[in-house]
Amino acid sequence: ASGSEENDVVVIGGGPGGYVAAIKAAQLGLKTTCIEKRGALGGTCLNVGCIPSKALLHSSHMYHEAMHAFPSHGVKFSKVEVDLPAMMAQKDKAVSNLTRGIEGLFKKNKVNYVKGFGKFVSPTEVIVDTPEGGNTVVKGKNIIIATGSDVKSLPGITIDEKKIVSSTGALALSEIPKKLIVIGAGYIGLEMGSVWARLGSEVTVVEFAPDIVPSMDSEVRKQFQRSLEKQKMKFMLKTKVVGVDTSGGGVKLTLEPAAGGEQSTLEADVVLVSAGRIPYTAGLGLDAIGVQTDKVGRITVNERFATSVPSIFAIGDVIPGPMLAHKAEEDGVACVEFIAGKEGHVDYDMVPGVVYTHPEVASVGKTEDQVKAAGVAYRVGKFPFMANSRAKAIDDAEGVVKILADKETDKILGVHIMAPNAGELIHEAVLALQYGASSEDIARTCHAHPTMSEAVKEAAMATYDKPIHI
Ligand code: FAD
Repeated sequence: ASGSEENDVVVIGGGPGGYVAAIKAAQLGLKTTCIEKRGALGGTCLNVGCIPSKALLHSSHMYHEAMHAFPSHGVKFSKVEVDLPAMMAQKDKAVSNLTRGIEGLFKKNKVNYVKGFGKFVSPTEVIVDTPEGGNTVVKGKNIIIATGSDVKSLPGITIDEKKIVSSTGALALSEIPKKLIVIGAGYIGLEMGSVWARLGSEVTVVEFAPDIVPSMDSEVRKQFQRSLEKQKMKFMLKTKVVGVDTSGGGVKLTLEPAAGGEQSTLEADVVLVSAGRIPYTAGLGLDAIGVQTDKVGRITVNERFATSVPSIFAIGDVIPGPMLAHKAEEDGVACVEFIAGKEGHVDYDMVPGVVYTHPEVASVGKTEDQVKAAGVAYRVGKFPFMANSRAKAIDDAEGVVKILADKETDKILGVHIMAPNAGELIHEAVLALQYGASSEDIARTCHAHPTMSEAVKEAAMATYDKPIHI
């Protein structure tokens, strides 16, 4: 279908923000079209982000476990080896099955899917350059911009996706690099660094800031960094890259302390640039129709996700807030609910964040530094997985649960978990926080034994009383 008939909702971008908004809009009875340029639905997340990275993290973890953990569990192999093309093929299969799954969901929900690059011609019309070379105009009473984000490059560094790669290239290397340098110690750099370190690369992470993952609770962060160092990842913090030389076989970086000082060089076969992501609005024609953006190029929206142009809305990575897939999805649902005349709500303080390394680190709510800075009187409850029976039974007991609760009311302010499955464990805390629970509410809730979740219960006990098992 061309979409020339007027839609109630047109969504530009088929990532987690856009495709979820489109499905929700159709479910609410609105005539909906979604425009996507990459030829596949799912956006950054599904094609070159969340999903392929988790596929490779799992595969590389299996190899690492086979090498380092299986023998102590009495499982022996005569030979363990990596078949990189097969590993990449399993990742690609997961991605293509999931993107096709979204096309299926579009059909089921009667979302009209238009392939091609969209550009505004008026506040209610988008012209789409189709892959066949023609174009079509898609009209909508309401238009949602869900164009996401793109890799941020660094001055003087050209990403060729071979020797100098972005996360996209790092998800598709054809050989295991002997040496890999990761520029930027955010979660994407650490996840990709972990993948290649497990497969045998010598990984050095260079970071300008004094700490890895700045959003993390500083106490948990220290333990996390130690854990990654045990896995042989090296860190050069407070260090900036001042020069890049690709003339030889590999890449030679010139480094300098962030505060200035003596330069050094570091060589690698591959350099991953993971210094953040920037909102993507190139070619959309925002200026011509008067959609406002902020200093860093994010589209400014009100609490109903409306931009400065009343018929145009924006969601996901292209607006302020955590640049995460689940946040984009929440935005999408709430935005469409507003358009349909209902109420919607997203609380950015309740968006969990997860680093999918091993162990994983997951958090929700405030860090201890933030609570302190806010001048709130608080208590801390902690419980190490070394004292959790399930973690000991499976011999995977590195990590901790840390709960921050208000000293007066015991209301939970923040929860930070480092554990093999922290990304799953965190949701009990997200729910508790969302319902305004106290730490005692969690502590008095029956948790199955033996589970890692018991560590959450015991950390909750520790905020106002004593845990049992330590
Ligand atoms: P996007 O997913 O970026 O989708 C935007 C879509 O719009 C794209 O497909 C693009 O092609 C399309 N588009 C842009 N302009 C136009 C146009 N003019 N016309 C037509 N189409 C257009 N987040 C998590 O929550 N968990 C994770 O584990 C995680 N891992 C990640 C790992 C990596 C390596 C990366 C890079 C990101 C990861 N993220 C993760 C972040 C996550 O991918 C993003 O937050 C999420 O994809 C944002 O969704 P979005 O819908 O706003 O935008």
